[in-house]
Amino acid sequence: MEGKRENILVSACLLGVNCRYDGGNGRKEAVTELMETYSLIPVCPEQLGGLETPREPAEQISSDAEGALTGRVVTCSGKDVTDSFLKGAEETLKLAELYGCKKAILKERSPSCGYKTVYDGTFSGTKIPGSGVTARLLAENGILVYGESDIENL
Ligand code: SF4
Repeated sequence: MEGKRENILVSACLLGVNCRYDGGNGRKEAVTELMETYSLIPVCPEQLGGLETPREPAEQISSDAEGALTGRVVTCSGKDVTDSFLKGAEETLKLAELYGCKKAILKERSPSCGYKTVYDGTFSGTKIPGSGVTARLLAENGILVYGESDIENL
C-alpha cells in the first residue's frame, strides 16, 4: 500500500483557482503536476482574510530610506487593508498546522504570498527585498516557503 503523501500548502491561484485580485488565476502546470507526488492544500490568504474577488490590487508600503516594509498594506486607491491581510495570514497558518504542512509553495511577489521579493507600494512594478504578510508568518513559524519558480528545490 502506498505511504501517506506529504501535505504541502499551495497558493490556490497557482492551481488555477480564480481567486486573484482581477478574478483570474496564475495556473502553473509544473505546480499542478506535483499532485502526482504530494497532497497539495490550496489556500488563498486574501480570500481567507475576507476580501472579495475581484478586488483592488494591494501592495505593502515601504517608507524609510532603505525601503523597508512598514507592515501596512494599502490598495491602489489608498484603502488600508492591513487587518484583512493579517487575518488571512493567521487563517492560512491555522490550515498549515491543521494539515501538518512543513512546506508551502506560494505565488511570487504577491503582497500576501510573495517570499523574499515583493512590490514596493508605489504600484509602479518596482520590486524590493521583503516578503508578503502570509509568507512571512509561515516562515516565522518554521514552514519552508518556495516560490513557483523554485519548486525543483522542494
Ligand atoms: Fe494567489 Fe495568494 Fe493572491 Fe490568493 S493571496 S490570489 S493565493 S497570490
